[in-house]
Amino acid sequence: METQSQQRHSIIRVLTIVQWILPIILFFLAASFELGEHIIYEHDSLSPAFISEMAIFGVIGPVTVWMVLRWVRRNQKQLEIANIQIYEMNAELEGRVAERTAELRDKNQKLKEANEELQALDDLKSDFVSLVSHELRAPLTNINGGIELIARHKDKLPERKQAVLDILRDESERLTHLVQNILDVSLLETGKLQPVAGPIALSPFLNTLLKSRMHTQNYYTITVNAPHGLPAAWADETHLADVVINLVDNSIKYSPDGGEISVTAQQADDEIIIAVQDRGIGIPPYAQKHLFKQFYRANNNNNREVYGHGLGLYFCRKLIEAQNGKIWVESSGAPGEGSTFSVSLPICELWDDNDADTLD
Ligand code: ADP
Repeated sequence: METQSQQRHSIIRVLTIVQWILPIILFFLAASFELGEHIIYEHDSLSPAFISEMAIFGVIGPVTVWMVLRWVRRNQKQLEIANIQIYEMNAELEGRVAERTAELRDKNQKLKEANEELQALDDLKSDFVSLVSHELRAPLTNINGGIELIARHKDKLPERKQAVLDILRDESERLTHLVQNILDVSLLETGKLQPVAGPIALSPFLNTLLKSRMHTQNYYTITVNAPHGLPAAWADETHLADVVINLVDNSIKYSPDGGEISVTAQQADDEIIIAVQDRGIGIPPYAQKHLFKQFYRANNNNNREVYGHGLGLYFCRKLIEAQNGKIWVESSGAPGEGSTFSVSLPICELWDDNDADTLD
């Protein structure tokens, strides 16, 4: 840019000189030629021919050349000015880009630091949660052991104490389950707990898992439907059991008028879908996308009266995602029409159709 501008500058300087010198030279050339021709050779000084030729070649010609050169010089000058402006704008833009880049680099650095801080806090939170739940588990095991010991002589206790014992047992079981779930999820989040996946034949798995719930409750019915020959799912048995129990218990909790709770397993392409459907209070559409978040409890048909922490579905999501599966809900939101919670899991790739006979 610098050399280009210098070149243009010298061209303009040369043009300024040529603009004046060339017409003068042309004037003298024309004058000497016309003088020679008319005065020296033809001796007819100031004849009309001499005057008109002098006017054309000595005046109009040089003046035209002068004007053309002036036009070229002016154009060059404007070009030079435009170039300088472009150069200045370019320099300014480069400066601004450099400034913004530096700002962005600065912001990026700050974001990175904030991110690292958040990550560190998150790790701290997970460590704290797993420490607390770990510390709670030991006394809970002792309490459960004590309750079971007393429960062996339950029939010798007066009726009121038996009822208190039952409540103690239920609450302690619930607390143990909650603590175990919190511990599992915090370990999953920090990558310290890897699901141990294996093939699960769903018909025997679901029937055995839900047997106790099928027989003990009577204001609703639980049906299990897993077709013969259904391929095995590839999942962690303990975690899948936790998820199914969680969903079925929710169906029981949120179906105050009872009704059928059906648990079905079926194949969809290369996945197994387990669905738990109830005829309970349903879930309004606006709440459905929040259900799987921590501590979220939908305000569906005054469910606040039902005991809960809003953690069960969050645990389910975490446990299922750790097994490369998905979980979702469908519900019209109308009471009595209930909801359907579904879980998808990968099919066991080692599955052979003949295995159905041995596993069912
Ligand atoms: P909790 O039941 O302890 O509140 P969950 O995470 O299991 O926590 O469930 C979150 C919310 O989702 C519940 O508070 C309830 O509003 C809604 N919910 C879950 N399952 C059902 C269901 N089967 N029918 C209606 N609402 C449900």
